[in-house]
Amino acid sequence: MQIFHKIKEISDLFEAGNNEQARHLLREILSNYVALHDETERQHLRIETMEKILEPENNLFYAQGFFWLTSDAKKVHGPFCPKCMNTEGDLILLEKEGHGFLCPYCNSRYPSLREAVGAPTGSPQTTHQAHIIQFNQ
Ligand SMILES: [Zn+2]
Repeated sequence: MQIFHKIKEISDLFEAGNNEQARHLLREILSNYVALHDETERQHLRIETMEKILEPENNLFYAQGFFWLTSDAKKVHGPFCPKCMNTEGDLILLEKEGHGFLCPYCNSRYPSLREAVGAPTGSPQTTHQAHIIQFNQ
């Protein structure tokens, strides 16, 4: 949203004939854009690296209304937000909130494992027949 205010400000400066000040603000926006682009690229590489290590296409499963990920036979990670996974294909780790969970991305609240979407299907460690969803590329 801040970018829209900056663009409006630049437009107003150009209209008022303050070209040098407008160019200065424009350079500032471009500099921020380049930094943001670099950071986004770095985050994409981090995600790619994690996906190669964790192999979600092979280790993701659905149980108790949530998505879970195993990194080996003993360790289970999760729960992950079912809404984010079902709508965007994003694996977002839920945060503990009281007795339930909160998604830090979509802000969905889940009161507990038992009250989550879908019927409980048993212990995550033993429920590997759940459907596997491919990540978005
Ligand atoms: Zn979510």
